[in-house]
Amino acid sequence: MSKIVNPSLVAKIMKERGFNTKKRFGQNFLIDQNIVNRIVNSAELEKDDWVIEIGPGLGALTTLMSEVAQCVVAMEIDTHLVSILEELIDQPNINIVEGDALAIDWEKCLTGHGWKDEPLKLVANLPYYLTTPLIMKALESDLPFKSVVVMVQKEVAERILAKPNSKDFGVLSLAVQYYSEPSLVANVPRTVFIPSPAVDSAVIKLKPISPLVDAPRKELFEVIRASFQQRRKTIRNALKPLIKSWGISSEQIDDALARAKIESNVRGECLALEDYGVLTKELMRGV
Ligand code: SAM
Repeated sequence: MSKIVNPSLVAKIMKERGFNTKKRFGQNFLIDQNIVNRIVNSAELEKDDWVIEIGPGLGALTTLMSEVAQCVVAMEIDTHLVSILEELIDQPNINIVEGDALAIDWEKCLTGHGWKDEPLKLVANLPYYLTTPLIMKALESDLPFKSVVVMVQKEVAERILAKPNSKDFGVLSLAVQYYSEPSLVANVPRTVFIPSPAVDSAVIKLKPISPLVDAPRKELFEVIRASFQQRRKTIRNALKPLIKSWGISSEQIDDALARAKIESNVRGECLALEDYGVLTKELMRGV
């Protein structure tokens, strides 16, 4: 299959095979070779690398990645696309796996294709309707990803990259930044897709890290979620639901805030991940 990605080639492949894009699968295919190159280059693939790709579509990224990486395992939910890909692709180091990437056991799938702990990367132009669950699945998995490069809606990228004291900062920023260092690779206009989506996109790169915060993960995210449940509330009031769920008193919340050196009238969006770590541990002293 040609690695040249352009509107007439994509339209031709679709017409010849009677394929119509499905909105419910978030199908927006890349038709701009520069963007495809940019995404693949930012993954810095090397010849030993194995790559998980979610949603190969018509193979725009897949074929280019297979020229460098040792193996690409591409998971595609759409049966019709899988049959088109199987017909178009003849590279032996591309494995097309039919199924829902959210439901597939990635480790089993990789080892089933011969993966033996080689360096692993994830690269994808993600379907918009599953962006957050797929990113969190990658970050929460025990797989040793060296990097995760994904195209997402611009607004989601802004939330992932946001720092405290900004309107975009929230649970998603903290969840992604707990597991990784995110950076912006490129902003992408809607014109580089067929069909053109209603929103602009961005490519981001996540470098997994060992969490810098040592509070227990479950409790840390209970505190974070409570803090952002109603953004306009002060942290003191936002934490009130913990009185019931954790069985602590409002005095214990006040004491924990004081020990964590956090003003009780600030809002959740003013606190950094490290603040939430300290606060969680102080709140847990009262449990
Ligand atoms: N990679 C192609 C490209 O860049 O041109 C297609 C990207 S398109 C935004 C998203 C792709 O993900 C589509 O091929 C769609 O069928 C596939 N997809 C949607 N939901 C999926 C799921 N749950 N598991 C695997 N693939 C999925």
